[in-house]
Amino acid sequence: MPKVIIHDAVDPAAFDLLNSRAGMEIVTLERDERARLRREMADADSIILRYLPLDGDDIRAARNLKVIARHGVGYDNIDMAAANECGIPVATIGDANSVTVAELALYLMLAAAKQGPEHDKAVRAGEWWQIREEANTVELYEKTVLVVGFGRIGKLVAPRCQAFGMKVMVCDPYIPQKLISDAGFTHAPDFVAALPQADIITMHTPLNDETRHMINADTLSRMKQGALLVNTSRGPVVDGQALSQALSSGHIYAAGIDVFEEEPPTPANPLFAHNNTILTPHVGGLTRECFHRSAIVCAQNSLDAIDGKLDKSFVVNPEVL
Ligand code: NAD
Repeated sequence: MPKVIIHDAVDPAAFDLLNSRAGMEIVTLERDERARLRREMADADSIILRYLPLDGDDIRAARNLKVIARHGVGYDNIDMAAANECGIPVATIGDANSVTVAELALYLMLAAAKQGPEHDKAVRAGEWWQIREEANTVELYEKTVLVVGFGRIGKLVAPRCQAFGMKVMVCDPYIPQKLISDAGFTHAPDFVAALPQADIITMHTPLNDETRHMINADTLSRMKQGALLVNTSRGPVVDGQALSQALSSGHIYAAGIDVFEEEPPTPANPLFAHNNTILTPHVGGLTRECFHRSAIVCAQNSLDAIDGKLDKSFVVNPEVL
């Protein structure tokens, strides 16, 4: 009997799809049931995985595992060396959450530019006249945005910025420059050299050794005075301490942040100290629609892996297939 583990909450659509297969065993685990997870993995065919880190020992203990179905597109919570060593494919949800994250990036950009949370707080506190006097918001119109990473999400962020009348520069050294210019955007071959030209920088790269702390004290100092930063990629792409200092000094006007170096962040997180930071709890892919789509893709990837016909386009380590 095939067995699928679902760790943490997913949309009921995943259960419906898996249960459409006769004899399917579905094991659900709560977020903190780590010890049971290792036991259940021993004979599972698939695990639908949200945020939990899967280490090498977890993966090596899973003798029957045919897929790790990531409920997202980042897979930095999985020991990929162990998955490769054990021949286990890791499947993501492809572009199921791309538009969702792109919309969040635009929301953070707008909320930061318009000081949304500060104004909301002031209206509720009866500080109507005071906040109007102090209003210090900016427009996106005719500003230059630097989109860093032109993959599934960056590609959707760029035209949305253009629709707001922004000039769009794109930096992605791993794709042909023509893809960027053909899409109507300015190619920025060098990330560091592009920084002084941008009013807004929005991050859409994966997290890896090259991108960890790509936004740091040095790169922040190269940004324009009054630049706005948005990060919906992965927390460690930005050095939070350095960003906090740049916000304190006023060099950076505001930041919109969905992802943190430590998740959940502790109350001591340096970004909490700033009114001009718009913070969201890693909800880039958590609209109702996206949660539903993601569940279906994970369930389908599980069924396909059990049937030996996993769609390669979802697999991030296809060499193991
Ligand atoms: P993707 O793999 O489709 O695109 C990433 C792009 O970044 C690629 O085109 C790659 O060439 C480019 N890139 C890699 N290194 C770069 C560098 N040093 N400089 C510039 N570009 C570089 O990924 P995606 O689906 O677009 O996701 C982008 C990021 O968003 C990932 O970090 C992912 O984990 C994150 N994400 C966050 C959420 C959320 O809830 N906030 C949801 C989904 C994805």
